[in-house]
Amino acid sequence: MSKVEKVIIIGSGPAGYTAALYTSRALLNPLMFEGEEVGGQLMLTSDVENYPGFPEGITGPEMMEIFRKQAGRFGTRFESKNVTKVDFSTRPFKVWEGQNLFETQSVIIATGASAKYLGLESEKKFMSKGVSACATCDGAFFRNMNVAVIGGGDTAMEEASFLTRFAKKVYLIHRRDVFRSSKIMLEKVKNNPKIEIRVNETVDEVLGGKVVEKLKIRNTVTNQLSELAVEGMFLAIGHKPNTEIFKGLLELNEVGYIKPKAGTSYTSVAGVFAAGDVQDPHYRQAITAAGSGCMAAIDCERWLEKQGE
Ligand code: NDP
Repeated sequence: MSKVEKVIIIGSGPAGYTAALYTSRALLNPLMFEGEEVGGQLMLTSDVENYPGFPEGITGPEMMEIFRKQAGRFGTRFESKNVTKVDFSTRPFKVWEGQNLFETQSVIIATGASAKYLGLESEKKFMSKGVSACATCDGAFFRNMNVAVIGGGDTAMEEASFLTRFAKKVYLIHRRDVFRSSKIMLEKVKNNPKIEIRVNETVDEVLGGKVVEKLKIRNTVTNQLSELAVEGMFLAIGHKPNTEIFKGLLELNEVGYIKPKAGTSYTSVAGVFAAGDVQDPHYRQAITAAGSGCMAAIDCERWLEKQGE
């Protein structure tokens, strides 16, 4: 530890990189901990077609590479490491990466969210042996096989459609008969002959030998059990915020998202700001994450100015 940073950004992805772009252009010389999974969730996304400025679409990893380059152009320093511990009780704040301690006047948290799992023992057993939460990463392993996608939101629709590129058949299993997903994405799934939609069903157990062979399905209305032969199960049941290291230090909502002060990026600790999915259970889009990264950078810059920094 040699000096006190002006701002440390924790987490990459559109929110973190945008915060880095703005704070570096404001000459705050940001230090960014990108995490070991550099680029965040967009690294697991295929085509991004809804980010303005890319009329032909762009892949998630390409987009994150561009964001990173732009933030780097103005002097952002990158560390591809995970922050393991923080102390926000006194200023300067303390941020640890393993044994390495960093001190900083302000922090922008952009640690995002991670995929949720059903919580079954059998699901754990077959992790990477047929169970996955990322069709983009693992879809190609299921060429000419039958797979199931669990969920009824946009992610489930996107993953089911994507998987038809490889799989022989895709079952979309949803616990209700009403879908959360946008109508256009649901229509695309309904019109895909390779996808069979199964409503009012959940998975009670993943069955197989060395790899997944079938799912024990329960009808959520009748409780009737049945089996479905598939070689893959893809979870698309939402995300949980990456706030483990902030528990007890910042105000979080009941499911662990950081609660910013309405209309701002201010957290419950002055000098600590939040941006992106870690504070957004509602929109979770690349564009909204980037927008909130910009807000956090501006809030942070103005706050530092008020402190006489
Ligand atoms: P959502 O929270 O929207 O949907 C999660 C789905 O999983 C729901 O249908 C939910 O069922 C189901 N689910 C949750 N827990 C369980 C469980 N334990 N067992 C069975 N089913 C479960 O998450 P998404 O990841 O789909 O989407 C998040 C956000 O990202 C949304 O705002 C979405 O619009 C956006 N998004 C946009 C995309 C795009 O525009 N290209 C692509 C992907 C996501 P129930 O409905 O019964 O609660």
